[in-house]
Amino acid sequence: MYSKIWLSKPHFETDDLDYFKTTMESNWISTVGPNIASFERSIEDVFNKNLKAVALNSGTSAIHLALKMLHIGAGDEVICQTFTFCATVNPILYCGATPIFIESEQETWNMCPVFLEEAIKDRLKINKKPKAIIVVDSYGMPAKWDELLEISNRYEIPIIEDSAEAFGSEYKGRLCGSFGNYSILSFNGNKIITTSSGGALLCKDEQDKERAIYLSTQAKTTSSLYGEVGFNYRMSNVLASLGIEQLKVLNKRIEQRRDNHTKYHSLVSDLKGVKLQQENSSDFYSNFWLNCIITNNPKISKSALIDEFTKHHIEVRPLWFPLHLQDYLKGSLYYGDNFSETLFEKGLCLPSSSNLTNEEFNRIGDVFNSFKK
Ligand SMILES: *Cc1c(COP(=O)(O)O)cnc(C)c1O
Repeated sequence: MYSKIWLSKPHFETDDLDYFKTTMESNWISTVGPNIASFERSIEDVFNKNLKAVALNSGTSAIHLALKMLHIGAGDEVICQTFTFCATVNPILYCGATPIFIESEQETWNMCPVFLEEAIKDRLKINKKPKAIIVVDSYGMPAKWDELLEISNRYEIPIIEDSAEAFGSEYKGRLCGSFGNYSILSFNGNKIITTSSGGALLCKDEQDKERAIYLSTQAKTTSSLYGEVGFNYRMSNVLASLGIEQLKVLNKRIEQRRDNHTKYHSLVSDLKGVKLQQENSSDFYSNFWLNCIITNNPKISKSALIDEFTKHHIEVRPLWFPLHLQDYLKGSLYYGDNFSETLFEKGLCLPSSSNLTNEEFNRIGDVFNSFKK
């Protein structure tokens, strides 16, 4: 029997683990210890020290903390991309705020600037100014940042950049994670680098960083006093040790995932009606965290592909089901043209791990080839 090919699996090499072992031996295994600040400095180095990083226990808590940093609370409205993972929107609900969903544009599958502005204008008409905008760099593909930032600046509404999937991706030579007033990264097991679970909040200055650390450590002021409602969101010293090692191979992981993309390009190029998601121009540089295809060929339908891949123990996944259509979010305001419904109907994510082997690629190729007959 074949072993299963996963969509995106963790990638450690055994020499990554020496540091982890030393950390365990030191017994500094809680949310205090030298690795945390060291991991943060290494993240800041990736961004040429233009940003401050706060290491946290997940990407989801990083988004929640970003909303807290912007003082989002009950009754506020927050604009959110609809074509994304539920973790992008749920923290809005944790705050008691209300999400307003924006459709994606066709070139990057991320927030459409036209629908964004339509929504803002519409809410301003009734004096309800949205408090923040959460934009995603979905599957590693950077959003249309020039247009989105222009709108954010003009209407003076801050952006939270969810670049959980886009560490290492670039738009016009600038790294994803540097576009939002606050940005977040995820180091969950399925992301491009991982600390098993984990995340980071990226902010602009030291003052912000200090406040975020304070909020993420129960808002503790002295040994027995607490300043406000805080959170237990700090990354542990053990996981930070994994992060330090993983950061060293980030560039290698990006190369490997981009290499997967090149291979998929040749695998699907002669499949009629099947298109691989690509960078729309040289402005976009994706880490290709996941490779995605859209099929317009009824003989190679999404469900036929899922059936066939599943039969061969290969994990594939539909593209995001639009959030505004999820049962628990139904009735939310939505601005768009239903493009994400088409993406869900016709799209599929393909195995894209950085440790995908040639043999595994051949198995994936065999499934595609069976549709050519
Ligand atoms: C993974 C992910 C998150 C959440 O990160 P966790 O570390 O799993 O909490 C948020 N947004 C997107 C788009 C993600 O893919």
